[in-house]
Amino acid sequence: MNHKKLFVFSAPSGSGKTTIVKHLLSKTDLPLAFSISATSRTVRGEEVDGKDYYFLPTEVFKAKVAASEFLEFEEVYKDNFYGTLKSEVTRIWNEGKAVLFDIDVVGGLNIMKQFPEETLGIFVKPPNKEELEKRLRGRGTESEDKIKMRLAKADQELAKANEFDAIITNDNLDLAKEEAYQLVRKFLKK
Ligand code: 5GP
Repeated sequence: MNHKKLFVFSAPSGSGKTTIVKHLLSKTDLPLAFSISATSRTVRGEEVDGKDYYFLPTEVFKAKVAASEFLEFEEVYKDNFYGTLKSEVTRIWNEGKAVLFDIDVVGGLNIMKQFPEETLGIFVKPPNKEELEKRLRGRGTESEDKIKMRLAKADQELAKANEFDAIITNDNLDLAKEEAYQLVRKFLKK
């Protein structure tokens, strides 16, 4: 088994991607570690700095961009920057693990392009737009404006699903988790 692999999970916000990623991380038979992204957005709910994200002030984020410390970064929403630090991949590979990314579609495709052999790109599709909207509202952590912004972005992201190596439709969470587990296991054996 070669652990120097990358697993990209991308999906519109609210499609259940993070739940699937957390499930995979709980599987002790899979040598995986989460790539902690950096972001300039504020902490939401129970999130912990250095665990869910590295929360950075915008100026610090921009200084790291200028110093070429990012593998990829984006202004995912206006004034909200997100990015993968190059040091995350080396940190995780040095631990003897494969890297698991929970990032947006453009960032995911960017990683796939930079590591074409090592990456398995998985797109998580919500069952439909109504369900996506329901899930986003159900979180109860964001303003109406932010929800509208995420829904608008979802359309653009769904149009790129076919550019990924695999698509998982999340209409049954247990099945989606199992499907993700099998895809990861198979790719780790390659
Ligand atoms: P949220 O604010 O809901 O945590 O994340 C918003 C979006 O940013 C999600 O689609 C998430 O996957 C994406 N995102 C998180 N980290 C990164 C990253 O490092 N790079 C990119 N390009 N997108 C990211």
